[in-house]
Amino acid sequence: NKKDDCWICIRGFVYNVSPYMEYHPGGEDELMRAAGSDGTDLFDQVHRWVNYESMLKECLVGRMAIKPAVPKGLSREIQEDFSVRVVENVGKIEIVLKKKENTSWKRLGHPLENHNLLIPKKDTGLYYRKCQLISKEGVTHDTKLFCLMLPASTHLQVPVGQHVYLKLTITGTEIVKPYTPVSDFLLSEFKEPVLLNNKYIYFLIKIYPAGLFTPELDHLHIGDFVSVSNPEGNFKISQFRELEDLFLLAAGTGFTPMVKILNYALTNIPGLRKVKLMFFNKTEDDIIWRSQLEKLAFKDKRFDVEFVLSAPTSEWNGKRGYISPALLSQFLKRSLDNSRVLICICGPTPFTEQGIRLLHDLNFSKDEIHSFTA
Ligand code: FAD
Ligand code: NAD
Repeated sequence: NKKDDCWICIRGFVYNVSPYMEYHPGGEDELMRAAGSDGTDLFDQVHRWVNYESMLKECLVGRMAIKPAVPKGLSREIQEDFSVRVVENVGKIEIVLKKKENTSWKRLGHPLENHNLLIPKKDTGLYYRKCQLISKEGVTHDTKLFCLMLPASTHLQVPVGQHVYLKLTITGTEIVKPYTPVSDFLLSEFKEPVLLNNKYIYFLIKIYPAGLFTPELDHLHIGDFVSVSNPEGNFKISQFRELEDLFLLAAGTGFTPMVKILNYALTNIPGLRKVKLMFFNKTEDDIIWRSQLEKLAFKDKRFDVEFVLSAPTSEWNGKRGYISPALLSQFLKRSLDNSRVLICICGPTPFTEQGIRLLHDLNFSKDEIHSFTA
């Protein structure tokens, strides 16, 4: 280890991540958890991270994936368990793998594809894993919660605000659509955040009867397989830095990125004063996880939710209409005159585009707005 040099050793292959690595305090535990106990191949890609802090954070909480054992990578077998050591003062992470047989190895084996390299993330391409459908539960009349199980020995943690691609072969053609995984924190009475080395991945998906992909997904049986890609997206946790007020504007399934954002913000941002969700739907029956959101608002005084319906019944006493200046100016009140604010917006394209225009009219800067778009 030369000064300022940092290497990660995985299964005997040494990856130089020097310029990008800096130890993130408290990261050791996260790494241990992320590494899990049954993984064999630690990174499916080594990315070129933009800066020290985000590199390690991404590595710890996000873009690390453990692929199933591929014995041909190494010339001999290794034991299932491995240990991870983080040497804080030099910024070194050591992953120690034990040989199955105590003999000397003439050679290490062959690096797996995309290993032993530093590749810019944009050049790595998508890698799909076959995941098994474990359950499918109705959430509203047209939206379902799908639970998929990752292949054995696989670790995939989709970062907050990012999506993956699901792939199915439909009448002989591979069809791919993006979906944003949700955490189950709203379901489990907000007890625990999802464990990092969770084996399951959850999606809230609206089924469009005339759609190409979602009816096929809906027709899958428990035990069938769907391919799931590695994560993508441009939302960064660093956007939460020193955040005081968080406003979420979601329409329909545009709610999905807000689930993890909500969970992360309420658990991890120390100075956070207020989180407000304005949730736009056509009718009351379309509102996803309404009672869970109301319970959360009751339980956590920092959180408020408002529902706005564009096609309500005459009994609806709440807010009505599409996104508008009147709705936004009333809703987007900073808790202090100069509080640091972030507004996240996601939904049908006309909703998001109109929302961004209105936010600019209300003098929110580009840095204060994150829009989730295609
Ligand atoms: P499509 O075939 O795309 O059709 C959708 C609807 O449009 C149907 O009602 C169809 O009849 C109508 N339609 C299609 N073509 C036309 C046309 N030419 N003219 C008029 N109407 C038409 N969705 C979720 O439910 N959950 C998520 O978590 C989620 N995350 C996403 C993340 C990202 C980054 C993006 C970009 C989208 C996300 N989506 C999500 C939407 C998802 O990717 C699909 O677009 C959606 O599931 C519809 O797919 P489909 O193939 O079933 O329908
Ligand atoms: P929907 O048709 O049920 O509409 C929900 C609400 O959106 C409406 O009640 C209305 O308030 C608003 N809306 C709809 N059309 C509008 C318009 N023309 N102008 C202004 N407001 C309008 O919504 P849905 O079927 O659940 O669709 C959700 C959309 O969110 C999809 O297009 C999906 O692709 C998108 N989405 C994007 C992401 C992402 O990360 N980019 C994630 C999830 C969903």
